[in-house]
Amino acid sequence: MTIPLLDLKAQYRGMKDELDAAWSQVMENASFIGGPKVSEFEAAIARYCGTEHCVACGNGTDALFLIMAGLGIGKGDEVITTPYTFFATVEAIVHVGAMPVFVDIEPDTYNMDITKIEAAITERTKAIMPVHIFGQCVDMDVLAAIAERHGLIVVEDACQAIGATYRGRKAGSMARAAAFSFFPSKNLGCSGDGGCLTTDDDGLAATARKIAAHGSSVKYHHDAFGVNSRLDTLQAAILLAKLPHLDAWNQQRREAAVRYNRLLAEVPDLTLPVARDYGEMVYHLYIVKSAKADEVMAALRAADIGTAAYYPVSLHEQEALIKLPGYQKPSLPIAEGCAGATFALPAFPGITTEQIGSVAAVVRGALGAPPL
Ligand SMILES: *Cc1c(COP(=O)(O)O)cnc(C)c1O
Repeated sequence: MTIPLLDLKAQYRGMKDELDAAWSQVMENASFIGGPKVSEFEAAIARYCGTEHCVACGNGTDALFLIMAGLGIGKGDEVITTPYTFFATVEAIVHVGAMPVFVDIEPDTYNMDITKIEAAITERTKAIMPVHIFGQCVDMDVLAAIAERHGLIVVEDACQAIGATYRGRKAGSMARAAAFSFFPSKNLGCSGDGGCLTTDDDGLAATARKIAAHGSSVKYHHDAFGVNSRLDTLQAAILLAKLPHLDAWNQQRREAAVRYNRLLAEVPDLTLPVARDYGEMVYHLYIVKSAKADEVMAALRAADIGTAAYYPVSLHEQEALIKLPGYQKPSLPIAEGCAGATFALPAFPGITTEQIGSVAAVVRGALGAPPL
């Protein structure tokens, strides 16, 4: 039985009529940039996250960059972040001219270890960028208290966490600003690239919107140098059709996780994901850890089951950083120990009980656990 890591074809089949109607309406209108669909989507995301503003843009990487640039973070500034994330997090910091400073991660949630932040603060530190990795929020109240004590800005990389909650609040509403990605494989994915930022800060929303539009608020008048970053009307229409399903999809991911947790309990050499009780995580990925990750992943692939290492290399050891002038590679033993040992099992919305059973059986077999 072929089981993909993520089944986007099944998702399309399940809502083909809705999606086809959404994009064919845009085709009929032949208006592809901006327009009411994009504004409607921005309003829907702001409402969903509970923020004053949402600014749509080209992708999650741009959203992070627009926030950094909009906040005026740049040369000479340091931004504290996690090494266990997708590379885009650190690109946004480097592209505005700032220096990323990595702190180690928690061994169970793989989120940035906030108890390590204070030791990393210097007189150059300007911001902290937590990433809600794999769909679980960082302990934001504790982080916010540290930031406040030191006068630092907090920016959430919420690209993997749309819909996740923390003490009743939504990811994307707990800092000065947050970035989301609508890359197809994210929990809310479009049919190409897309992203947005959310914020309660009127000035930042306006500045980010201007930077995304060539430094222009009034057409053909430019008071700054910006970039071209926008969400296509087609993507906005597709996302508007998908957004009402997001909570149900996230619930299905959690149910898949519960089932795996039961089927994989007490398997030797296997660490299951830990969900903190301060919120609801959305399992962007169901991540397990094993010293025998390579063997287990090979067994899964031999059984035609999708899997991948998240992440094979911790960012603080990436070649691009090593070559970055002024960068000093820290020693981060927890992240280094997780790199290559943590990997994803299929836990997409709509995965069947039978499919989960098959995946669990292969994992158990590869690690010498008795069949259930
Ligand atoms: C996907 C992702 C991004 C980048 O989003 P894109 O839309 O691919 O540019 C940034 N940060 C994290 C944590 C991500 O998972």
